[in-house]
Amino acid sequence: MTTKQAPNTLQKLGLNNPMALALHLPSRYEDETELMTIDEALIQGRFSSVQTQGVVIRNQVLFRPRRQMLVTIEDNSETLQLRFLNFYPSQQKQMAVGAHLRVRGEIREGFQGPEMVHPTVKAVAPDASLPVSLTPVYPASAGISQAVIRKAVASALKDPSLHDALLEFLPKKLMSELLPSNDWPNLKAAITYLHQPPADADTSALLERTHPAWRRVQFEELLAQQISLKRAHAIRRERHAPSFAKPINEDSSLEAGLLKSLPFQLTVAQARVWSEIGSDLSKSFPMNRLLQGDVGSGKTVVAALAVARVMDYGYQAAVMAPTEILAEQHYLKMKEWFEPLGVRLAWLSGSLKAKDKRLVQEMIESGQAQLIIGTHALIQESVSFSKLGLAVIDEQHRFGVRQRLEIQQRLGSELFYCHQLMMSATPIPRTLAMTYYADLDVSIIDELPPGRKPIATKVVKASRRDEVIAGLKSWLSKGLQAYWVCPLIEESEALQLQTAVESFEQLTQALPEFKVGLVHGRLKADEKAAVMAAFKDNEIQLLVATTVIEVGVDVPNAALMVIEHAERFGYAQIHQLRGRVGRGSADSVCILMYAEPLSLAAKERLQTLRETSDGFVIAERDLSLRGPGELLGAKQSGDAMLRFVDLQRDAWLIELAQQAAERLLVNHADIVERHLERWLGSRREFLKA
Ligand code: ADP
Ligand code: MG
Repeated sequence: MTTKQAPNTLQKLGLNNPMALALHLPSRYEDETELMTIDEALIQGRFSSVQTQGVVIRNQVLFRPRRQMLVTIEDNSETLQLRFLNFYPSQQKQMAVGAHLRVRGEIREGFQGPEMVHPTVKAVAPDASLPVSLTPVYPASAGISQAVIRKAVASALKDPSLHDALLEFLPKKLMSELLPSNDWPNLKAAITYLHQPPADADTSALLERTHPAWRRVQFEELLAQQISLKRAHAIRRERHAPSFAKPINEDSSLEAGLLKSLPFQLTVAQARVWSEIGSDLSKSFPMNRLLQGDVGSGKTVVAALAVARVMDYGYQAAVMAPTEILAEQHYLKMKEWFEPLGVRLAWLSGSLKAKDKRLVQEMIESGQAQLIIGTHALIQESVSFSKLGLAVIDEQHRFGVRQRLEIQQRLGSELFYCHQLMMSATPIPRTLAMTYYADLDVSIIDELPPGRKPIATKVVKASRRDEVIAGLKSWLSKGLQAYWVCPLIEESEALQLQTAVESFEQLTQALPEFKVGLVHGRLKADEKAAVMAAFKDNEIQLLVATTVIEVGVDVPNAALMVIEHAERFGYAQIHQLRGRVGRGSADSVCILMYAEPLSLAAKERLQTLRETSDGFVIAERDLSLRGPGELLGAKQSGDAMLRFVDLQRDAWLIELAQQAAERLLVNHADIVERHLERWLGSRREFLKA
């Protein structure tokens, strides 16, 4: 096979067998099926790329001002000049006087008349036939020429093994029932068509990937994914997890104690999602639920209720967050709620000293610790729970893919199956939830606690800093508090700290009648806690902070936030930060200060943030900007899973694949197996992340 010609580069692309090559589908096509005479080409070529041919009558290498090669070809109708600004000796030879060339390109008006600059050139016999199909152009890949890929693919398509590999599995009856107007070719035909479409193919449908041949391939891919999801769903139901119905001694339960001690009533939305979660917990198979709700919607208390329910049965609960700061906020909150009720809490993070870590691990193993809160350190090998009933995972999409896999492997292992509750402030569009997440139930808190005032967001140039500080002064004079958030400097934590310290000093000087505090990531946990406590007690009126306050901090009297260099923050970050204000009864204000020059993207971002504080709208903008994979933190796995499907464009296909998957699982177990093997193979694991 031709793969032998360039083993390394093709191999590097993973194109090491006929199936892989067959599925390496073109990104576009060139039409080399038509040939014009040179006089026709000189006219048509001004509008689009054209193909013509002739014999070389002149070949000159000139230096004016750069070294370049001018080649003139001629046919019966006209002459045409070709210009090459860089070229190899081999090309010089190929285009020597007397050679017959077939060239393809557009006509430009040069200094000496019409010409083609860097056309595609082939040396052919004058009577060489034209290709009957469009010429595929494959996704660009460094170091491999189109010619090599084309040859490798063409020979792969002829490989006898491909016949079996692309055998049609889908029952005709099933397909015609699902898709009455079924005009899809079978898989082998679809793939062959996509590599070698006939000259009269609908090229725009091919480019947009809406052509029936594309649909057929996309459907296959989605079907594999839907089957895996359904299979995971069924497997989960066969597993066993402890069932936690409503507690027997309802009045003396932790659950009731927590509800009683809260200074507020659950909102209708909170009560609804809690009943959904409660019902999952009462089942004898593990819960796998995502709790979604905007920043400040009150997810934590719902998680706490689930934690209480599990502890009421004598089981342990774990709460895990992707960063130490976020985990710590949970720890403080849970401690405030549960310690008065006599619950033994434990804190575990990577930064604990080895000795302390061992102590905590012993408490977890002996069952002495009932509620364990921490970072990713919680799922390390060295931690073994005595009786884990529930794992709460906050902002799970912010864990890396590898870590998410580890979490799933650990929590869904043969050893024990515990209930899982994930939480996220980032809304996931339905199509994404249907395709990216293995077997996930979703609950949504679609209402903020009462009394929240909308946040007025202002966008202000950094040159007006003095005015902002004057405004801050009159704000603080009213007895209110405020945050001053310093820029994120991704390249350097030290630099970030330095700017925070500078702002802190400047503001301390400008506001002598108020106490200014400083909190940043380099402080030790207890130092940080001391500053936060002082801010909470209004001993500090202005808190200068780095993004450490992005999550969890909750001081209702602080209703003003100034964000410096807001142009450096992303959508989600500002949304999260801004969620810190607007929690009390005062009107809240967020000032986004920006330094010029402002990029177009940053300008649009700040504008959107000024206009809306709706997390769903903001997430949508974010999504259209960054793509779903990155938003979910699933970039690697997502890309590997869906190569041919665009979730926005092909949403309807997902539904179809879902129905087909259901029916195949019921009636065609053998097909299901073969289909999974064909499409997922070694990638199966990633579906779980
Ligand atoms: P998030 O969903 O962003 O994690 P939190 O759980 O931190 O939100 O809740 C935000 C704030 O709202 C907290 O101060 C919390 O105590 C408060 N809160 C939660 N539920 C209610 C409620 N039903 N009524 C009033 N305040 C609430
Ligand atoms: Mg939260």
